[in-house]
Amino acid sequence: MRVLAIESSCDETAVALFDGGSGELLAHRVHSQTDVHAEYGGVVPELAARDHMRRLPSLTRATLTDAGLGYDVIDAVAYTAGPGLAGALMTGAAFAKGIAASRGLPALGVNHLEGHILAPLLGDDPPAFPFLALLVSGGHSQLIEVREVGDYRLLGESIDDAIGEAFDKSAKLMGLGYPGGAALSRLAEQGDPTAVPFTRPMVNRPGLDLSFSGLKTAVANAIAAGHAHQDVAASFERTVIDTLVIKLTRALDQTGLDRLVVAGGVAANRPLRQRLVEMMADRRGAVHFPEIELCTDNAAMIALAGYRRLAAGERDAQPGFRVRARWPLAELELPGALVGS
Ligand code: ATP
Ligand code: MG
Ligand code: FE
Repeated sequence: MRVLAIESSCDETAVALFDGGSGELLAHRVHSQTDVHAEYGGVVPELAARDHMRRLPSLTRATLTDAGLGYDVIDAVAYTAGPGLAGALMTGAAFAKGIAASRGLPALGVNHLEGHILAPLLGDDPPAFPFLALLVSGGHSQLIEVREVGDYRLLGESIDDAIGEAFDKSAKLMGLGYPGGAALSRLAEQGDPTAVPFTRPMVNRPGLDLSFSGLKTAVANAIAAGHAHQDVAASFERTVIDTLVIKLTRALDQTGLDRLVVAGGVAANRPLRQRLVEMMADRRGAVHFPEIELCTDNAAMIALAGYRRLAAGERDAQPGFRVRARWPLAELELPGALVGS
């Protein structure tokens, strides 16, 4: 089954063509709208929706051309149905459903977060189930027990800012543009991670919840106090990683799991990857990451998640579509669970 996938939940327009049978990603393209939103210092929902609409037809054609294939090879269409910006989701959903309807193909709305945590299954070293997932992105910071595809239990999450958001807001305070998470990490390479003694948030409290808004305020104070930006960046990054290591250790001990999956845009962070590799080696466990380019938003992960469900017979119930700005992972069911209901 060849699945065409469309992703438009936020400020990346993405298309992928995936062969589920062989597990081969035939082609995928991502167009980032960074330039559209940069001058506003954040994503402007209306502009995001319009730009998705403008880009989707040509991006889809280009993706098929990359694969050397035409529309006729597509067996099913998957699209991101949430969570995300409602208008942005609607443009991608309408486009995907249009292709499906015109060609008489099944279509399925996919959960973006399920896409993120299943992204490592596209790599050379796919994780076996069950595993602990750390989802760290622009909008989410969650610890999830993953028993199998569709069986998710939320163990803990940020009670305020997501980690990517804390990276981006801190980067903005340093004049690194938006979204500045990756730029902050590059600046941190030149800094002293022990220069600013930030408090690790929530580590002295029991439980697996996280909090990052206080750290962002502490970054603002450190900058105002005259600390060099690279030292603030390095200390911030070290604090975030230390905090995650403490919480992950707790979650692994509590669940007895020995496999860790790290996904979402912040999983592209090199020092984080390195520390978690060391941590899991010490525990004689394993850690799996998506390929770097599949950490941030893309349609390859939507194609994979969509394929797992389409292959089990799942498809959209009505000819219309429904997108969901909020759609928690814990509400998902096993692939095929809803077929015929
Ligand atoms: P969500 O998936 O929760 O809806 P999103 O789709 O906006 O949010 P992603 O695309 O998964 O988020 O990730 C984007 C985030 O990842 C941004 O906050 C960005 O700054 C951050 N990010 C990307 N690369 C790095 C890096 N190397 N270090 C730290 N943060 C990074
Ligand atoms: Mg983005
Ligand atoms: Fe995302």
